[in-house]
Amino acid sequence: MDALPLLLIRIRRTTLTALTSLASANRLATYGLLSLLLALSAVAHAWRQYANFYSAAVFLSRSAGSVLALANLGFFCTLVFGRVMQTIFFGPLRPSEVERLYDRIWYFLTESLLAFTIFRDSFDPPFVLSFGLLLFLKSFHWLLQDRVEWMDQVPYPGPGWGFHVRVGVLFGLLGSADVVLLSWAVAEVLEEGVGGVVLFGNEYAILIATLLNLILRYSIVTYDIRRASRRGGENAPPWQDKSMWIFYTELLTDFLKLLTYLLFFLLILTTHGLPLNIIREVYLTARSFVTRVRDLIRYRSATRDMDARFPDATDAQLGGDRVCIICRDEMHARAAPAIPAQPAQQAPAAHQAQDGPNMTPKTLPCGHIFHFQCLRSWLERQQSCPTWYVLFSVFCT
Ligand SMILES: [Zn+2]
Ligand SMILES: [Zn+2]
Repeated sequence: MDALPLLLIRIRRTTLTALTSLASANRLATYGLLSLLLALSAVAHAWRQYANFYSAAVFLSRSAGSVLALANLGFFCTLVFGRVMQTIFFGPLRPSEVERLYDRIWYFLTESLLAFTIFRDSFDPPFVLSFGLLLFLKSFHWLLQDRVEWMDQVPYPGPGWGFHVRVGVLFGLLGSADVVLLSWAVAEVLEEGVGGVVLFGNEYAILIATLLNLILRYSIVTYDIRRASRRGGENAPPWQDKSMWIFYTELLTDFLKLLTYLLFFLLILTTHGLPLNIIREVYLTARSFVTRVRDLIRYRSATRDMDARFPDATDAQLGGDRVCIICRDEMHARAAPAIPAQPAQQAPAAHQAQDGPNMTPKTLPCGHIFHFQCLRSWLERQQSCPTWYVLFSVFCT
């Protein structure tokens, strides 16, 4: 019973070790030299048998051994090209990035095996080449995704200008490649009907959605850095709406992916049967989308008109214990609106208060008091009073 999963894990580990050792420079050189010698000997053999170029080329494409030797050289060249591109755009990879990349490649390959069984009629050398190209481009999307996520973790002022240039160029290159290849796949499907190419159409549409997500996230983080630089750099007040923008970005991406998957799913279901290879992805995307929509609805209903719904706490209500239990800071009642005698001095102060997090103490229906901002970020996750959230689902009442 357990033999199959164990065997799969062992195969996976061996493959990953082989890939890792293949990627190290020394072995890559050895492998390249051997591949080149093999391909050259195949060409030399064909040349010796057929004096003219055309017959030699025909012989090369007909004999399985020569095709294999040439394909192997092609694989080697792709590997080197990939390494060069990776060095240009990402520099050395961190071990966690390498591990995640191999994990993703592995998942993708195993799921693609299922797709190959659906499209076994389309399985020919051009199909394999297209698949290689897809995997190549996908790997760069994955690496870029890791880097954009990493960028958000870098403390102010964020990564240097070299990072931004490389990410910008990658957005352009990958975006154009995705769009060109998606239009190719769509044109092919429209012309020849639903075949193996539809697999690539689906993949490139998903890649475009992923890239759009990365561009939006990158813009959000860049805006956050710019915003901080205008407000005192390191000590700038945090941008309160950032999490909301990231949330909407993810929601949009999930929606686009779900749409693409459903279209693909229906296309395959009506022409070829159940598309086993994307069931996991469809399920994960649908679940994530539903969760996000539910969170959004809950959050919107909980934070609607917060300022009007929850009254400001007065100094008397605050009493002796002024600590907000969410942030453990003291709370101070909002200063009574000043007499408009000195509007010139009042204006900048009011502006500053609006700019940073809103720290006005707010009273919940149950009488508990928290900072406006603390309450809002709490309500993003839970729709209950922070003091009694275990016991009551709605504001202790
Ligand atoms: Zn607080
Ligand atoms: Zn309460």
